[in-house]
Amino acid sequence: MKVIVGTRRYHSTACPLIRGAGETGVETMTQAEAEAAGLTSCSVCQHDREAAT
Ligand SMILES: [Zn+2]
Repeated sequence: MKVIVGTRRYHSTACPLIRGAGETGVETMTQAEAEAAGLTSCSVCQHDREAAT
């Protein structure tokens, strides 16, 4: 999972929001870690994942 520093959502690595954020300012963690930190999933990522399959 990818998290943009300062936000409360986690993203897939392919999320356009992560791509737009660049390499700096993005943290990598597991989904379990993100959920444990109280972060919520990004609706854009979820939508992309469903569309891809
Ligand atoms: Zn996202």
